Amino acid sequence: MRLLRSTDLALRVLMRLAVADGATPTTREVADGMEVPYTHAAKVVAELQHLGLLDARRGRGGGLTLTEKGRTASVGAVVRTFEGEGDVVDCEGSTPCPLNSGCRLRGALRRAQEAFYASLDPLTVTDMVASPTGPLLLDISRAH
Ligand code: SF4
Repeated sequence: MRLLRSTDLALRVLMRLAVADGATPTTREVADGMEVPYTHAAKVVAELQHLGLLDARRGRGGGLTLTEKGRTASVGAVVRTFEGEGDVVDCEGSTPCPLNSGCRLRGALRRAQEAFYASLDPLTVTDMVASPTGPLLLDISRAH
């Protein structure tokens, strides 16, 4: 199963902020550290703010901060939110599949998708920045 780019980026932003240790990096700094376009990062930051997972303050001394909700957020919940409700296969696209009305494969794929999400549910953003990831994130951020 391949995640949307925005899903992975959302998790990367949360992980970056989880190691900020009191600092408040700007969206630009986070984007540069992640080597992603600023516009992609800004869109994801806005969505994470809307979800209450981070605070974004403008102006001098402003920047991004992870909220407690963001620190303890389930990786599975973040993935579900950003991936949306869609199936892993588009059975009803512009040319609907003829098996659509009675397909066992469709049900099996749905269960596999749910198992994938469920395996991520117990993991938190904080879990994801344990060593070696957290120290590596800090090194990368300092280099920008
Ligand atoms: S075979 Fe089943 S899962 Fe595949 S596109 Fe058709 S309905 Fe969907």
